[in-house]
Amino acid sequence: MTSVYQQKGLDCYNIVESSLKNCLNMDSRFGGYFEIPEDSYDGWTRQYNPRRIIRRLNELNDNVNELKMGVVDVDIRVVGTRFIFGIAHPIHRSAIVSIYRLGGPKLKERVSKEVVHEAGHLLGLGHCEHPRCVMHFSNTVEDTDQKSERPCDSCRRMIEE
Ligand SMILES: [Zn+2]
Ligand SMILES: [Zn+2]
Repeated sequence: MTSVYQQKGLDCYNIVESSLKNCLNMDSRFGGYFEIPEDSYDGWTRQYNPRRIIRRLNELNDNVNELKMGVVDVDIRVVGTRFIFGIAHPIHRSAIVSIYRLGGPKLKERVSKEVVHEAGHLLGLGHCEHPRCVMHFSNTVEDTDQKSERPCDSCRRMIEE
């Protein structure tokens, strides 16, 4: 079971729920809304540290048998990148996706792809070279638009084993 959390004000649970079900056959429940922790803001880059946001999810839900997926609308970044669309922390069984840079008419499908991508990491998948596979790494939204919502056959086999 995956618990889905949303930054207060967002309304994307239905997209997350149906993508996880359709693409990975994962069941979800709505976990609740949360606020972005103030200590995740970096005044220098004006971006947010996703690890602190993940820590917040784990304070909300410390059940290690449940996957936690958070959706936020702030720009996130880790050291060595300019920005990221999402990040997974398999040990904490938690991931977040930021919709901040996914806007536009394709917002829903982009959210769906990035959520399935991070959930794939939580299931143990790494990045895949197949540009159409949902586990392909996205540097830009164009990369996201190129890929499908689903894992390729070889990624699928790995999670079905
Ligand atoms: Zn990834
Ligand atoms: Zn693949």
